[in-house]
Amino acid sequence: MSQSTVVDNFSNQSVTQQSFDRGAFDDSVMKTYGRFPIALERGSGCHVWDSDGREYLDFVAGIATCTLGHAHPALIDSVTRQIKKLHHVSNLYYIPEQGELATWLVNHSCADKVFFCNSGAEANEAAIKLIRKYAHTVLDFLEQPVILTAKASFHGRTLATITATGQAKYQKDFEPLVDGFAYVPYNDIVAIENAIADIDEGNRRVAAIMLEPLQGEGGVRPGDREYFAKLRQICDENNILLVFDEVQVGVGRTGKLWGYENLGVEPDIFTSAKGLAGGIPIGAMLCKDFCAAFEPGNHASTFGGNPFACAAALSVLQTIEQEQLLDNVIARGKQLRDRLNAMASSYPQMFTEVRGWGLINGLELQADIDLTSIDLVKSAMDEGLLLAPAGPKVLRFVPPLIVSADEITRGCDILEKVCQTASSKL
Ligand SMILES: *Cc1c(COP(=O)(O)O)cnc(C)c1O
Repeated sequence: MSQSTVVDNFSNQSVTQQSFDRGAFDDSVMKTYGRFPIALERGSGCHVWDSDGREYLDFVAGIATCTLGHAHPALIDSVTRQIKKLHHVSNLYYIPEQGELATWLVNHSCADKVFFCNSGAEANEAAIKLIRKYAHTVLDFLEQPVILTAKASFHGRTLATITATGQAKYQKDFEPLVDGFAYVPYNDIVAIENAIADIDEGNRRVAAIMLEPLQGEGGVRPGDREYFAKLRQICDENNILLVFDEVQVGVGRTGKLWGYENLGVEPDIFTSAKGLAGGIPIGAMLCKDFCAAFEPGNHASTFGGNPFACAAALSVLQTIEQEQLLDNVIARGKQLRDRLNAMASSYPQMFTEVRGWGLINGLELQADIDLTSIDLVKSAMDEGLLLAPAGPKVLRFVPPLIVSADEITRGCDILEKVCQTASSKL
């Protein structure tokens, strides 16, 4: 292990630290992830530092999670105060912070009721269970409810949510999958109509359509407004629940508080997680009163909605409001897309197009070149910019919502340099 000296960002004192021991890590942590070869140790705003003291501009933000960036005073303050007061009890008792958070969410969305859990997958599990409960008890006592989801979608890693996820690579070797799902191409209304007609026989019928307003992991593909308007109409006419997975796009990420606001339609049920508490684990499943079919004992979570996570989420949401971060998301998003579009035009042999809303954006690589998003992520990392892939051919940009104009410019300057080098090797 090598020793390195870095200047501590907060105290301005020199601190001595040991470089990270990767061998010990690999010996004991299960290898479920492909990891890039750095260990991040501390952060401030949109910047993080690795164990050797190297600085990076963070356009990953814990994968669209660190809404307020790193070490934001509002988040530090809320979690510090809450952990000193009371951090965890149980849903055996009333939790005032949970009530306050639910009230905020209900007042700022189309939903009437909220269930809290700890992750995106869990929030989607709750939605899937609610759909079935509603189908069995309200929807003409439907015996075999089917949930339609989209190809190239992503809904999580539990058994039900990998089944909902319309990508074979997440399902392979985990069969048998959960019954009651069928898949359609995204943004294709004819496919929805055909699927509803095909599935409708006897006690088997489509009970819900579950979609991301913008497909995140599947390559940053925004939903089409016309498609979603038609979808809403089809759902209303056929007693089908419209369910949105807002785990990645909710909480201001798109420049609106919720992804569905970009589409001009309201879901009956939606889920949130990633950015909701700015990097403290939380998940939420929200729905309208008419389909809030859960009764006491139907669903639960030990940690779900504990005082600590709820205080964190409240401070994140209040900061988004007070600092008018949605305006920043819109302005910085446009600035970023303008630069990315310019790069896509400068390197047409490398890139096809730029897609996204607000501060979730994707730059797609040409399919037929010998260059993947992961190659570019590695090169950018070497130059001090963190980016995430969204599949093998899309570079994803999801910086904290507090990102500044200068930081967008710097990130794009770094990427420009990376592109120059990469294109000269093609
Ligand atoms: C990340 C993600 C999930 C899964 O969330 P976890 O917290 O990892 O369980 C589900 N849906 C979408 C759209 C996501 O982006």
